Amino acid sequence: MPRSNRRRRDEHRPLALGGMGSQSVESWMGRAWVVRRLTGHTSTRSYTCPGCTHEIAVGTPHVVVWPDDGLGGVDDRRHWHSACWKARDHGRYGR
Ligand SMILES: [Zn+2]
Repeated sequence: MPRSNRRRRDEHRPLALGGMGSQSVESWMGRAWVVRRLTGHTSTRSYTCPGCTHEIAVGTPHVVVWPDDGLGGVDDRRHWHSACWKARDHGRYGR
Protein backbone atom coordinates (compact mmCIF):
# COMPACT_ATOMS: atom_id res chain seq x y z
CA MET A 1 0.00 0.00 0.00
CA PRO A 2 1.51 3.29 -1.06
CA ARG A 3 2.26 5.75 1.61
CA SER A 4 -0.43 8.38 1.65
CA ASN A 5 0.36 12.01 1.62
CA ARG A 6 1.47 12.87 5.05
CA ARG A 7 -0.47 15.72 6.47
CA ARG A 8 1.25 18.18 8.63
CA ARG A 9 -1.73 19.78 10.23
CA ASP A 10 -0.84 18.51 13.67
CA GLU A 11 2.68 19.75 13.71
CA HIS A 12 2.03 23.07 15.30
CA ARG A 13 -0.91 22.19 17.45
CA PRO A 14 0.00 21.82 21.08
CA LEU A 15 -1.24 18.52 22.34
CA ALA A 16 -0.72 19.35 25.98
CA LEU A 17 0.83 15.97 26.52
CA GLY A 18 3.94 17.40 28.04
CA GLY A 19 7.53 16.73 27.26
CA MET A 20 7.83 17.30 23.54
CA GLY A 21 9.81 14.20 22.83
CA SER A 22 10.80 12.66 19.57
CA GLN A 23 8.09 11.91 17.09
CA SER A 24 7.95 9.64 14.10
CA VAL A 25 5.48 8.01 11.77
CA GLU A 26 5.22 4.23 11.82
CA SER A 27 2.92 1.80 10.09
CA TRP A 28 0.55 -0.55 11.85
CA MET A 29 -2.51 -2.39 10.64
CA GLY A 30 -2.16 -0.82 7.22
CA ARG A 31 -2.25 2.70 8.52
CA ALA A 32 0.35 5.31 9.27
CA TRP A 33 0.52 6.36 12.88
CA VAL A 34 2.21 9.30 14.46
CA VAL A 35 4.23 8.02 17.37
CA ARG A 36 5.34 10.44 20.02
CA ARG A 37 7.59 9.36 22.82
CA LEU A 38 6.75 10.80 26.18
CA THR A 39 9.01 11.00 29.14
CA GLY A 40 6.10 10.70 31.50
CA HIS A 41 7.53 13.36 33.74
CA THR A 42 4.63 15.66 33.16
CA SER A 43 1.85 13.15 32.96
CA THR A 44 -0.86 13.59 35.51
CA ARG A 45 -2.97 10.52 34.91
CA SER A 46 -2.56 6.90 34.11
CA TYR A 47 -3.64 5.20 30.91
CA THR A 48 -4.55 1.70 29.91
CA CYS A 49 -2.17 0.25 27.36
CA PRO A 50 -4.06 -1.44 24.50
CA GLY A 51 -1.15 -3.78 23.95
CA CYS A 52 -1.24 -5.53 27.30
CA THR A 53 -4.36 -3.97 28.88
CA HIS A 54 -2.28 -3.06 31.89
CA GLU A 55 -2.07 0.37 33.37
CA ILE A 56 0.60 2.83 32.38
CA ALA A 57 1.35 4.41 35.71
CA VAL A 58 1.81 8.12 36.12
CA GLY A 59 5.37 9.07 35.40
CA THR A 60 6.12 6.07 33.20
CA PRO A 61 7.81 6.83 29.90
CA HIS A 62 5.57 5.61 27.12
CA VAL A 63 4.38 6.44 23.62
CA VAL A 64 1.20 8.00 22.39
CA VAL A 65 0.08 7.15 18.87
CA TRP A 66 -2.68 8.38 16.61
CA PRO A 67 -3.56 7.85 12.95
CA ASP A 68 -1.70 10.04 10.51
CA ASP A 69 -4.23 9.66 7.72
CA GLY A 70 -6.57 12.42 8.78
CA LEU A 71 -9.41 10.00 9.42
CA GLY A 72 -8.99 9.94 13.14
CA GLY A 73 -8.80 12.63 15.68
CA VAL A 74 -7.84 13.27 19.21
CA ASP A 75 -10.17 10.51 20.30
CA ASP A 76 -8.07 8.01 18.39
CA ARG A 77 -4.99 8.66 20.41
CA ARG A 78 -3.74 5.64 22.27
CA HIS A 79 -1.18 5.43 25.00
CA TRP A 80 1.06 2.37 24.88
CA HIS A 81 3.97 1.10 26.87
CA SER A 82 6.99 1.64 24.66
CA ALA A 83 7.72 -2.08 24.68
CA CYS A 84 4.14 -3.00 23.84
CA TRP A 85 4.10 -0.63 20.90
CA LYS A 86 7.29 -2.23 19.60
CA ALA A 87 5.69 -5.64 20.04
CA ARG A 88 2.39 -4.64 18.46
CA ASP A 89 2.95 -6.91 15.49
CA HIS A 90 3.50 -9.97 17.62
CA GLY A 91 -0.13 -10.76 18.05
CA ARG A 92 -0.72 -9.45 21.52
CA TYR A 93 -2.99 -6.67 20.48
CA GLY A 94 -6.70 -7.37 20.71
CA ARG A 95 -6.39 -10.56 22.64
ZN1 LIG B 1 1.51 -2.45 27.68
